[in-house]
Amino acid sequence: MPGMTVTEKILAKHAGRTRVEPGENIWVSVDILMTHDVCGPGTIGVFHEQFGKNAKVWDKDRVVIIPDHYIFTADEKCHRNVQILRDFAKEQQLKYFYDADFVKNEPKMPNPYRDPTKTNYKGVCHKALPEEGHVRPGEILLGTDSHTCTAGAFGQFATGIGNTDAGFVLGTGKLWLKVPPTMKFTFHGEIPPYLTAKDLILAVIGTTGVDGATYRSMYFAGEGIRSLNLEDRMTLTNMAIEAGGKNGVCEVDEKTLNYVKARSNRPNWEVVTDDADAAYFASYEYDLAKMEPMVAKPHSPDNKDTAHNCRDVKIDRSYIGSCTGGKITDFIFAANILNGRKVKVPTFIVPGSTEVHQDMLTLNLKGMPRKAGEDSIWSTLASAGCEMGPAGCSACLGGPEDTFGRTHNTEVVVSTTNRNFPGRMGSAKSAVYLASPLTAAASALTGHITDPRDYVTGRIDTGTAGVI
Ligand code: SF4
Repeated sequence: MPGMTVTEKILAKHAGRTRVEPGENIWVSVDILMTHDVCGPGTIGVFHEQFGKNAKVWDKDRVVIIPDHYIFTADEKCHRNVQILRDFAKEQQLKYFYDADFVKNEPKMPNPYRDPTKTNYKGVCHKALPEEGHVRPGEILLGTDSHTCTAGAFGQFATGIGNTDAGFVLGTGKLWLKVPPTMKFTFHGEIPPYLTAKDLILAVIGTTGVDGATYRSMYFAGEGIRSLNLEDRMTLTNMAIEAGGKNGVCEVDEKTLNYVKARSNRPNWEVVTDDADAAYFASYEYDLAKMEPMVAKPHSPDNKDTAHNCRDVKIDRSYIGSCTGGKITDFIFAANILNGRKVKVPTFIVPGSTEVHQDMLTLNLKGMPRKAGEDSIWSTLASAGCEMGPAGCSACLGGPEDTFGRTHNTEVVVSTTNRNFPGRMGSAKSAVYLASPLTAAASALTGHITDPRDYVTGRIDTGTAGVI
């Protein structure tokens, strides 16, 4: 009998079993359920309909609600969604509800927060979950968002579920899941300075296709993964869903342990590793020294090409943000390219979270606390002519007409987001090229898709950013 993979072991443990097999259906106990302003109201509706209007959630300390999607907008319907979450959090006395400051009685565009250091609002759920101590190795985290798989970067089983399932989890803390077979992706060598995890995952999805990992676990391992900072690993696991994956998961190492020990709001958790003789559905090997900066051309994340091959593509704007490109290390990468230069096309900057926003103000270009007189990440990007927005999902999901950075016409965009289906960033006529923050920044300087090797001359130090 072969050994088990990380995903199989986590699922077995949460089913009260010593062993599970791919394809088996099992009941699992859930550690954390997350929802947000788009799916939260529907989930709450299912919960009340099925369990009664006076029902209580299974564990008020394991439900996390993070408004993040349609936040920087004056649209009333979006604000009503946040109000539904607010009412539910109060009714259920939830400990973890990260409310925005605005919503009522704002005269114009309501900013979700005034000061990133003094707000309970967090921003993008997948960035906020680890920051606020809700992710831990060996646990199961479910969320009403397809990119919930992001948290697999911390060695846990994390996946997106629909409102109906989430309503059931709210009432019971359990879910019926099929055990996915695991595909293993091993990266050899150290990450070169001109690549980020975005290039790696675009290469992977370009190989598997958008359905090549459907209902499978994607396990990322090897020296190359260990050389990535934790935030970059989140970009890898985030986009597992773009290959159809049930979950993405990374090996746990010292970087993971240091971060989780510093942040977790629960002390007890267990690191799970795959057995040496674990059986994989398929295995892929990549040599980082041979990989190039990648893009996904319109209109699919698997439409891969190199940034170099796309150098004749003129762009109308660059967008650096979202759960794949709005982390502090993403902005350090971008700021080092844009430092002392001016962007040629409108370039939108959207921090993934208020903590990222805060770090952008307090860290220098090497990711270290800024000394008097030194430029911050924020001031460097603003001086380069970028348009600076508040933390949240913003135009990654299009959003209402007034959403910051949203497309409205035939704009050609290079973007650090994770999906480029028609209309994803607003207008169905616009064309989105997915790329790393290095490529998005380099392209902002030239007005066409640009290989970041034209600007990156050595390793970009990210210092203490995103470490704990
Ligand atoms: S930033 Fe984009 S991909 Fe991430 S949670 Fe928000 S809308 Fe979804």
